[in-house]
Amino acid sequence: MSVLAPAWTADDGARRARDLLASTLGPEPADGVWAAPGRVNLIGEHTDYNGGLCLPVALPHRTYVAVRRRDDRTVRLSSAQEEGVRTVDLDGVGPAGSPGAVEGWPAYVVGVAWALVAEGLVPAERVTGFDVAVDSCVPYGAGLSSSAALECAVAIALDELWGLGLAADDAGRARLAAACVRAENEVAGAPTGGMDQSASLRAQEARALLLDCRDGSTRQVPFALEAAGLELLVIDTRAPHALVDGQYAERRDSCERAARQLGVTTLREVEDLDAALAALDDPVVQRRVRHVVTEIGRVARFAEELDAGPLDTGRAAALGALMAGSHASMRDDYEISCAELDLAVETATAAGAHGARMTGGGFGGSAIALLPAGQAERVAGAVSAAFAAAGFAAPAFLLAPASAPAARTA
Ligand code: ADP
Ligand code: MG
Repeated sequence: MSVLAPAWTADDGARRARDLLASTLGPEPADGVWAAPGRVNLIGEHTDYNGGLCLPVALPHRTYVAVRRRDDRTVRLSSAQEEGVRTVDLDGVGPAGSPGAVEGWPAYVVGVAWALVAEGLVPAERVTGFDVAVDSCVPYGAGLSSSAALECAVAIALDELWGLGLAADDAGRARLAAACVRAENEVAGAPTGGMDQSASLRAQEARALLLDCRDGSTRQVPFALEAAGLELLVIDTRAPHALVDGQYAERRDSCERAARQLGVTTLREVEDLDAALAALDDPVVQRRVRHVVTEIGRVARFAEELDAGPLDTGRAAALGALMAGSHASMRDDYEISCAELDLAVETATAAGAHGARMTGGGFGGSAIALLPAGQAERVAGAVSAAFAAAGFAAPAFLLAPASAPAARTA
């Protein structure tokens, strides 16, 4: 049997969500099923809050929501990934830490409804309650953004049920993404840049989404792996995320202090890296700045390679070298890797990957490896064996062809 976790077909996902709606929230039919993908970032880590570049693709793995409109302002929720039925009064929803705070996973759902109102995207009288059943094949907490997949599936559902029409074009989708970011930051209380939600709502099949976090602009970059005889393997290390929250804040803080010291708004404005490093006295801050500035450069070069023409062997090797450089920078300068991520990257590289790197915020989560087509099972086997030998938990795997954005499925 394959070790690669399959993505559900749209029919299968829709059927699961509808069945869950019927079995947990009553037999009346759903108004529809909507789905949104998780994402994986090809390159460009911890660049978002520095006004930099990142390059995510949408996964074929999606979160499905079957939604049924209600006449009142109540939201009832169930998820195949969570216990029990939850009920939330929409009028009582407020930011995390306020009296209207919503406990646990429903915050990602009702937070979107709240944020659509807060962003002025929906007239208050169009806001109705709804019943929603969730099922997903996006792994949780693997750095593949199951949270954004859930938010964006709900956003696209409410966009249609409330008649907003924002999903029809990219500009509207950017506004939905902004509402999802607010839902996650303010209602779920989790810090997040805009990459995950932009990828889930705005990425396209066989394309990577070049996102410029300085001004929010995007560009679709060709990323047709199959046609090039390549595959992208995602390795979910299942490493326990230790100390993540404090470390994220510490990195962000270092970058902000360095920018102030250098007299720039964000590290994106640094043009001469050597001069910037010479102007900083703390060696730790110097390393942090070097990661951010060189990483932004690697994203730009990665996108240029993809723009330049078909992904032949030479170009795949160039992409691989940029991935290797990115990983080393995160391991040595930004210090956000961990033993499991390093082992996954080293093993995949030794097993013949063009390149590999950790992806996501770090301290656990997933790594990616760019492989010649047909090699994924073998490389996954090598990584599993290395993890077993090191006494680590068994990793999980999936393939990540660049896939379609959030949409209605049934
Ligand atoms: P990641 O986004 O990397 O997978 P997060 O910690 O940001 O990890 O988000 C995971 C959280 O999002 C879960 O703990 C849960 O609260 C919520 N969530 C994601 N997917 C689902 C789902 N299918 N059903 C219910 N809640 C979900
Ligand atoms: Mg998340």
